[in-house]
Amino acid sequence: MSAHKPLPVDEALIVAATQQFKTPFHLYDEHRIRQSVWQLAHAFSWAPGFRNYFAVKATPNPAILRIVTEEGCGLDCSSFAELLMAGRMGLRGDDIMFTSNNTPIDEYRFALKLGAHINFDDVGHLDYLLAHDVALPELVSFRYNPGAEREGNAIIGRPAEAKFGATKAQLIDGYALARAHGVTRFGLHTMIASNERNADYFVTTADMLFQLAAEIHRELGISFEYINLGGGIGIPYRPEETPVDIDRVGAGVERAFRQHIVASGMAAPRVFLECGRVITGPAGMLVTAVRHAKSTYRHYVGVDASMADLMRPGMYGAYHHISVLGKPGTASDEHYDVVGSLCENNDKFAVHRQLPSVHPGDVMVIHDTGAHGRAMGFNYNGKLRCGEVLHTSDRQFRLIRRAETYDDLFATLIEDVDGE
Ligand SMILES: *Cc1c(COP(=O)(O)O)cnc(C)c1O
Repeated sequence: MSAHKPLPVDEALIVAATQQFKTPFHLYDEHRIRQSVWQLAHAFSWAPGFRNYFAVKATPNPAILRIVTEEGCGLDCSSFAELLMAGRMGLRGDDIMFTSNNTPIDEYRFALKLGAHINFDDVGHLDYLLAHDVALPELVSFRYNPGAEREGNAIIGRPAEAKFGATKAQLIDGYALARAHGVTRFGLHTMIASNERNADYFVTTADMLFQLAAEIHRELGISFEYINLGGGIGIPYRPEETPVDIDRVGAGVERAFRQHIVASGMAAPRVFLECGRVITGPAGMLVTAVRHAKSTYRHYVGVDASMADLMRPGMYGAYHHISVLGKPGTASDEHYDVVGSLCENNDKFAVHRQLPSVHPGDVMVIHDTGAHGRAMGFNYNGKLRCGEVLHTSDRQFRLIRRAETYDDLFATLIEDVDGE
């Protein structure tokens, strides 16, 4: 028996969606998204000025971003396109966090124009701005990399081997340099885990960062306006896994805040998060139809979605649960590889997965694709990425991104491929 994982919305709803939209498509549930934001806000209600900046890269669609900003989130951007999207949505200033790395000057210019909070990945970037005649922002924040002090996890890697952030000694030099250039407001950031489901990991991170802030305060006399704990709260992709206890994270961070920040006597900073996955991940699913079944040395199920629509299994070997509509039980002992149509053997949504007996025409739901799903897709092999459908709070379906067309695919070619 393979384990059961409930669908994020009623099966009847997904069936209704397949009658309205051609598979494959990602389907997101608005209510679930709102609920996750409420959960975070509740757990951090003790922290004055708390805000989650939703990581745009998780689900870069304005219809989704609008939902989270309506619930009070800001947007965490890490590229020009993400800033552009936030800017076009009318967001400015405190509504935007810019946490980038290896950053081009144009992205800094644009982030500054929008008045975004900027987390510098490297202290040398202050000189980089000055060398380009760009004035430093009023508020300077650095991304801390604790190095060997902390274990990371599989997806983001060990901090000591990660390309992100600066060492403690560099941070202290950086804040001093910023101050020497007239900067008066400061922030501090880290992001060292991804898809982490241990609540205490985030408490340890907060502990580390609050201690560091207190230390820098003692050393330089500066106070922090915000401390940004980053994102990385994980979700239960596997049926046997449990969600992160968000209230436990909130309570633990509060304890660390009292212990290090309040006790240090420095002005209390706002606490920020940059969570993407935990907000939209479980609220999304990839709906795909079975096209072929074949048995060679294994049983294969070929679906109409491919790695172009969801890369995590192929890229990280990540588990995504699969349900077959109309076959809730596990009546079969059959094990299948569920595959797309790319000429690339990594193009598999599941390997040796126990599923009900599957036939062409069956509809499969690949769970938890609401974050880092459609967004990671690519056009290798000329595969067109699928569209996105929102199931709204008033129980309507709304197409929020159409599927790509061959004209989209060829739009950047210089030589004409028009004409039959
Ligand atoms: C990807 C990313 C996030 C969001 O991570 P989640 O796992 O979606 O919570 C937040 N901050 C930065 C800097 C990131 O790169």
